[in-house]
Amino acid sequence: MKFGTRIIHTGRTIDPVTGALSIPIYQTSTYRQESVDHFGKYDYARSDNPTREALEETIALLENGTRGFAFASGMAAISSTLLLFSPGDHLVVCEDVYGGTFRVLTQLFSRMGIESTFVDATDLDTIAAAFRPNTKGLYLETPSNPLLKITDLAGAARIARERGAITLVDNTFMTPYLQRPLDLGCDVVLHSGTKFLNGHSDVICGFAVVKDAELGKRIRFIQNAFGAILGPQDSWLVLRGLKTLRVRMEESQRSTVRIAQWLAEQARVTQVFYPGLPTHPGHEVNARQSAGPGAVLSFTLESVALTRRLLEGMKLAAFAVSLGGVESIISYPAKMSHAAMPAEERAVRGITDTLVRLSVGLEDADDLIAELDRLING
Ligand SMILES: *Cc1c(COP(=O)(O)O)cnc(C)c1O
Repeated sequence: MKFGTRIIHTGRTIDPVTGALSIPIYQTSTYRQESVDHFGKYDYARSDNPTREALEETIALLENGTRGFAFASGMAAISSTLLLFSPGDHLVVCEDVYGGTFRVLTQLFSRMGIESTFVDATDLDTIAAAFRPNTKGLYLETPSNPLLKITDLAGAARIARERGAITLVDNTFMTPYLQRPLDLGCDVVLHSGTKFLNGHSDVICGFAVVKDAELGKRIRFIQNAFGAILGPQDSWLVLRGLKTLRVRMEESQRSTVRIAQWLAEQARVTQVFYPGLPTHPGHEVNARQSAGPGAVLSFTLESVALTRRLLEGMKLAAFAVSLGGVESIISYPAKMSHAAMPAEERAVRGITDTLVRLSVGLEDADDLIAELDRLING
């Protein structure tokens, strides 16, 4: 079945008890047991909750994995998964990784003896050169945030596998509708479900998905032991949001392609970063490994003054942190997603004071372009 059908009919879509089309919210912390000798499948809701399970099954199936795990935030999913590693382990990480991931790696996991080297992951030789005998993981985002750089996932995963390391991919920007890293040989898919998966800017959540059974067991152990699980109400909201993932992504992506083309023609726009543009250095690799360029782009403007005018003047896109909602969001990476990164690190990565990121929602593209035109050229 095609993705559009699977997204509606995949996993536990009907309540097995009543036949309800909407999985009930099992708002409980514990479950009564029948016998002293045999506890049921459900004993305590940190371990198992049917609403969360329905969501976990769905995300696993959509990513072509075998097990999915829902966490209280994207960072909870990422941090919990990083607990797969031990003191003395080394990680190779793409250099424009999400700011919160950079922070947790450099300020928390580094303290526990897990060291990270940040590399330009657009180049496979650079990735390979950063490997050490103790490198246990390769951590990637493609398209990356906020410069939409593209990594060849199959090529990178091969490098890691040959060296005995696992590949982890933050697939937040693409979602399984557009890109399925497990099919390309990667080992763990991570998500901030807060963004496109839920899609309505009303839940903070995260996911880890794997194909390998052993890896699944290890993450399951961490999820239950560490305890950063997603609650049943939020799980239900994400189940609902997911049903429209395909139509939301299609519509937003269509608008993003138009906006990127329009921005590229404006004299006051100095650079546009979007893998959907044929001029983007990662255009071909992205076209090969995914079903589309997604609904986030970034661009630089000719001055800081113009950048501020746009950020503060835009009405149809909220000036806010985050992305992937039905409403467009315009953000300022230097002071938002990457504020946790020291200024020198930002400069090295090209996250300048005139860089703006736009997550395109479901507004009419004509209206978005008209407003951009008024603020940039008016
Ligand atoms: C937002 C985001 C995260 C963090 O997710 P939270 O849900 O905010 O904890 C991680 N990676 C990427 C790419 C993100 O955009």
